[in-house]
Amino acid sequence: MNQTPEKHFKKTYDVVIIGGGINGAAVANIAASNGLSVALFEKGDFASGTSSKSTKLVHGGLRYLENFEFDLVREALRERHVQLASAPHLVKPLSFVIPVYRTDARPLWMMKLGVWLYDRLSGKYVIKPHRALTAQEVSAALPGIRRDGLVGGVEYYDAQMDDARLCLENVLSAREKGADVANYMEVRSVIKEIGRAAGVRVRDVMTGKTFEVRAKRVVCCAGPWTNPLLEKDPIGIANRVRTTKGVHVVYKKKLSDRAVLLQIKKDRRIFFVIPWMGQSLIGTTDTDYNGSPDDLEVEAEDIRYLMTEAKKAFPNEIFEEKNIVATFAGLRPLVHQRGHPSKVSRKHVIEESPSGVVYVMGGKYTTYRLIAEDCVTKLLGKRAADSSRFYPVYGSGPVPVLAEDEDRKFAVAQGTVAYLRSFYGSRYMDVLQLVQEDPACKEPVCDCSPVIAAQIVYAIRTEMARTADDVIWRRLGLGYQACGTKKCRKAVLKYFS
Ligand code: FAD
Repeated sequence: MNQTPEKHFKKTYDVVIIGGGINGAAVANIAASNGLSVALFEKGDFASGTSSKSTKLVHGGLRYLENFEFDLVREALRERHVQLASAPHLVKPLSFVIPVYRTDARPLWMMKLGVWLYDRLSGKYVIKPHRALTAQEVSAALPGIRRDGLVGGVEYYDAQMDDARLCLENVLSAREKGADVANYMEVRSVIKEIGRAAGVRVRDVMTGKTFEVRAKRVVCCAGPWTNPLLEKDPIGIANRVRTTKGVHVVYKKKLSDRAVLLQIKKDRRIFFVIPWMGQSLIGTTDTDYNGSPDDLEVEAEDIRYLMTEAKKAFPNEIFEEKNIVATFAGLRPLVHQRGHPSKVSRKHVIEESPSGVVYVMGGKYTTYRLIAEDCVTKLLGKRAADSSRFYPVYGSGPVPVLAEDEDRKFAVAQGTVAYLRSFYGSRYMDVLQLVQEDPACKEPVCDCSPVIAAQIVYAIRTEMARTADDVIWRRLGLGYQACGTKKCRKAVLKYFS
């Protein structure tokens, strides 16, 4: 943005969106694709809320089958296919193994039935068919898993994503289509004229200045922050969103090459141990949270719960605190329903208040495209253009393939070009262009990851990173690396000093 925000955002938009998590980002992307003029405001960094704190699965949700939510699972499995086909650099297939023990609440036959049904609901979008495993096969697939009482298991397939970057690529794609998108801009209130929403008052978080933006429609995609906004603009039901907290631990060692789905005996919940960035992502918890989303923290009890269960699953592993690389907590913004948090439906709802503000609530990350398309349909008053076959984000589309010796041609370390291609998809040449402009940018910033300096420059120049944390956590994921020297963080901080 070259001008002051009040000048930059001076036109009257068709739609202004509050919140730059995955739902706000995708509404901006789809609204812009449908010819609407769009402004999007995010009070922190894009994806800094729940959308970078998920389990990072694009999945139908095997466990929703026991709630008989077949439509939700089928819908999510179809969306899984759309994401895999449209953004293969960000969404990748992953094998899951469920070991089943004699004393598990869900016996082996039930798990076999579950994965059979899961594949049936996937229909032609099955990634790879499930298979039943003997106890020996489970042990071979998951070395280190508890053997005592193991009766067998199943293997099935889902997908894993980079949640923060998928959100970002929706924002960048919206921007490319003409949307005005801004992070570190907080919507303080909705402007109302004769009782109808006519725009928003925004505070530039970096400067403290406030300004007004006019719009024909206002959409609230504030996720866990929806209730405080609703209090100022009631739709008749208080606390429409139920926020439940989920914590993850990033553990230094890759405990398994496959994702493991485990049953917790104490509360019948399930949890995952997932290979992620060469390490293990262990999670999650699911407990009601009634505080301010801004005050959310990981508590010692959350970590204890996860590490205790991980230890039961991998009894020979010595889980030491020093091997916990990172922890993070997120809030599920679920449509309010009574009952145990794990049983609350993940269906989404789009409602309009009497003042005309459209609220997007509930849903799963997996179904974000569908949620956003439903929202834009509501805004247009007619069906939005169908994006269910191919839904492009910033790095989608054909990835240019260069000659075999491309690492040498760009004088980068071996494997760098392949890494950049799998990270940025069709946009990877943009980063290599920076290397050509300034060869000093070709150097890896640290031993802990293949990240090169050009990616930091790219994050700042093109990907709207405005703080060191934006780069470290949400653009390049360096914060999740077990790094002894912290050279990578220092390399990023240099650009912000
Ligand atoms: P958010 O990402 O929270 O975005 C809302 C944004 O609004 C925030 O960035 C916030 O800063 C901004 N905002 C708030 N108020 C204002 C304001 N006044 N002005 C400007 N901006 C504002 N789903 C899956 O499909 N797969 C999974 O594996 C999965 N795992 C999960 C694990 C956990 C622990 C949790 C908590 C959720 C998980 N989910 C998963 C669900 C999924 O992550 C969420 O449904 C999704 O990220 C919600 O996105 P959102 O855009 O609604 O909310």
